[in-house]
Amino acid sequence: MTATRAYAAQDAHTPLAEISIDRRTPGPKDVAIDILYCGVCHSDLHTARGEWGGVKFPSVPGHEIVGRVTAVGDDVTKVKVGDFAGIGCMVDSCRTCHSCQEGLEQYCEGPHGFQGTYNGWADGSGENTYGGYSAAIVVDEHFVLNVGHDEADLAAVAPLLCAGITTWSPLRHWNVGPGKKVGVVGIGGLGHMGVKLAHALGAHVVAFTTSADKKQEALDLGADEVVLSKDRAEMKPHRGSFDFILNTVAASHDLDAFTALLKRDGTMVLVGVPETPHPSPSVGALIFGRKAIAGSLIGGIPETQEMLDFCAEHGIVSDIEMIPMQEIDSAYDRMLKSDVKYRFVIDMASLK
Ligand code: NAP
Ligand code: ZN
Ligand code: ZN
Repeated sequence: MTATRAYAAQDAHTPLAEISIDRRTPGPKDVAIDILYCGVCHSDLHTARGEWGGVKFPSVPGHEIVGRVTAVGDDVTKVKVGDFAGIGCMVDSCRTCHSCQEGLEQYCEGPHGFQGTYNGWADGSGENTYGGYSAAIVVDEHFVLNVGHDEADLAAVAPLLCAGITTWSPLRHWNVGPGKKVGVVGIGGLGHMGVKLAHALGAHVVAFTTSADKKQEALDLGADEVVLSKDRAEMKPHRGSFDFILNTVAASHDLDAFTALLKRDGTMVLVGVPETPHPSPSVGALIFGRKAIAGSLIGGIPETQEMLDFCAEHGIVSDIEMIPMQEIDSAYDRMLKSDVKYRFVIDMASLK
């Protein structure tokens, strides 16, 4: 075991503070990583502030991790000491169920599902896990990703490990590409990556935002059009015109405003997980038009590598604001006000 500096929520109501956690001694299949950067996902906030329940405290959030490999077990083949590597939202799964066999570990059908990078198996079925708000981490190589970007971009690569894959996976599953009209709702950490990726995949992209000051920037991110979603006059011309809508909003809101924009057989995928449920969507608005509302969870390890490789090839990274670890609580408060363009990333040098 190695004592490792970390930042933890001690309960749902007090600011995060420094603690010491133990990282295991690397086994034959393990990779030890010195964490350089960790993105700040809204899921970290939902967890640290107990909004989803089921949190085992102390909780060390962080699942958008990029770092340098410092040690590898004898059987590791994916990376070597000195390489840059990424860790996303998962650190283990059963590896034998149908989903795991298909490389969709996020849908693991084993008795406890996948093990999250933090708050993993917090139900007591296994040891709790501590995430990337820490100086170092030890992870089985199966859940380690190769990072092909330039070293100068590493901080902006970190958010790809959750915001990138969570938007990439549904865009690919629902075949977003040339000839498709695609909406992205909520231009935050996930949404701004959704715009960039859908644009790079060749779709016609419409960004929906509640923040007037993001309108011009959404065009710069790659959107072909931007709509202020609270303005009915701006929404109306888009009725019945979308093949696909990716909804990343982190709060409860009226889904009917967006299902009305779908074409016949169109699908809106929800990836946001609000603290309180959305108002029930209108069934009539779905059956007239055979429309669908679906959900999607992060992405599997093979598709995460595919996304990282695609982003390296196309020069895609996240738009970030770097913060020291000590500013995490004010960053959470700003994130709640949609006051970040578009992802906070913690410079882990501030913890060391
Ligand atoms: P974020 O950076 O806070 O972005 C959310 C965006 O939603 C905001 O920037 C804002 O965009 C919009 N928004 C916020 N409150 C709103 C409201 N009341 N009404 C309408 N729009 C609102 O959060 P994130 O990190 O992208 O995460 C988004 C959600 O996805 C969170 O619930 C998170 O837990 C969840 N998540 C899910 C998965 C998964 O696997 N499914 C993975 C990661 C995260 P505008 O300013 O443009 O309106
Ligand atoms: Zn996340
Ligand atoms: Zn499994």
